[in-house]
Amino acid sequence: MSFSSLGLSESLLRAVAEQGYETPSPIQLQAIPAVLDGRDLMAAAQTGTGKTAAYGIPVLEKILKAEPSKEIQTVVLSPTRELAIQVSEEIRRLAKYMHGVKVLPIYGGQEIGRQIRSLKDGVQVIIGTPGRVMDHMRRKTVKMDQIHTVVLDEADEMLNMGFYKDVKYIIDL
Ligand code: AMP
Repeated sequence: MSFSSLGLSESLLRAVAEQGYETPSPIQLQAIPAVLDGRDLMAAAQTGTGKTAAYGIPVLEKILKAEPSKEIQTVVLSPTRELAIQVSEEIRRLAKYMHGVKVLPIYGGQEIGRQIRSLKDGVQVIIGTPGRVMDHMRRKTVKMDQIHTVVLDEADEMLNMGFYKDVKYIIDL
């Protein structure tokens, strides 16, 4: 099974090849078609199995297929800023050939004014820690009306860290 047989666009296939990914990993084979179909999905896999790309690839494909927009279309929630940064770097590499698609990590501890300026430029994918995402939602600098996909990365860890109420607030909107 190849990435091209999953029906991905040329710009995404090019970035995937450039990353050196030859074939989809098992979690990618299962998750990519399901996310493209818009199905709700819960996936469990060890670190190092390609789980970031398992949701990153179909989320970017959905953005490619949608009408061009400067609004946020995907929110990835992450328990820590380190994971948020790491995930945004990987999704950025996958989006390298997608013109006009911006990926932004937003996490607590970083100056909020800087995040607001970046958000105003138009961002399609944000990867954020729950508290900071909620803060932006309250300030209306993050709007949820055009979001088609919400990803809870390391959901178990987020719940262990006491983020249940924040995550619920975000996904209920
Ligand atoms: P993750 O499970 O998301 O932490 O990914 C672990 C590592 O595997 C990352 O460095 C990815 O760049 C890499 N990776 C993801 N998908 C593939 C693939 N299909 N083939 C080879 N490497 C991959």
